[in-house]
Amino acid sequence: MKKYQCLCCGYKTLDSRGEFDICPVCFWEDDTYFNYSGEPITGMYHDGEPAMEELLDIPSGANHGLTLRAAQENYRLFGACEKDMLPHVRKPHSSEE
Ligand SMILES: [Zn+2]
Repeated sequence: MKKYQCLCCGYKTLDSRGEFDICPVCFWEDDTYFNYSGEPITGMYHDGEPAMEELLDIPSGANHGLTLRAAQENYRLFGACEKDMLPHVRKPHSSEE
């Protein structure tokens, strides 16, 4: 089964893209990224994968307004997209790299 790369930690942990799957490694919720009119920003997706640079600074509703850039920094610093999520995360499996 195809696995999708988590936008925050980069491991292949997601069964779908933009379906609000929660990554077990960093606890980022895979948001669909709606524009200001409430429509999904589908133009940012190429071959089913989002164009990262454009997503980095959009506050994610599914992640309590956290931006992807901040979540990535948090993951680098302490291993979860937010400090409160630390008890829920696990280490990535080698098959997810
Ligand atoms: Zn992740």
